[in-house]
Amino acid sequence: MADYKLLEAFVGHADDIRFWMLTPFRFDGSTYATRGSLIVRMDGECADYPELESEKTRKNIQKIWKGKDLSATSSLPDLRNLKLCHYCHGSGKDLGADGITQTDEPCPSCGGDKMTECDNPFLIGDNYLDGKLLVKIQPLPCVRFSGTPAREKPQYFVFDGGDGFVMPLDYISARNRAMELLA
Ligand SMILES: [Zn+2]
Repeated sequence: MADYKLLEAFVGHADDIRFWMLTPFRFDGSTYATRGSLIVRMDGECADYPELESEKTRKNIQKIWKGKDLSATSSLPDLRNLKLCHYCHGSGKDLGADGITQTDEPCPSCGGDKMTECDNPFLIGDNYLDGKLLVKIQPLPCVRFSGTPAREKPQYFVFDGGDGFVMPLDYISARNRAMELLA
């Protein structure tokens, strides 16, 4: 049986106004999760999650999958030496007035991700991918990147039981922002 709980690592930030991204969702025979810059899909609809209602969003997601490329696969890069966020030292929490004590608020620099985009770019083909997003993808079973997309186009990947896309970092803003797949 598919472990749909894996998808919960890919939902949007709690403060994202795109409320439909805050949990996994299902439509068209698959269960999905996205945080805008990354989208993951698993085969089969898991009834624990709501059906995606917006026809417009369904179409936007279907459009992303038209870019899927099943050619030459490669494995994930070595992610062992990633740099932690300098502000929160990898705790993901904001620091109190003393600059030491962690509060319950997410870190303003990394948003709670424990790493920032600009610290961990990985050059794959013509694109820099965000190490922070690759760390999220890594626990999926048997992940393989597929094909080499054009610059700033989404990178397709497959794993046992599903597939997904990750957006590269933006070249123009000096690689410090992960591009968005979905508005
Ligand atoms: Zn931080």
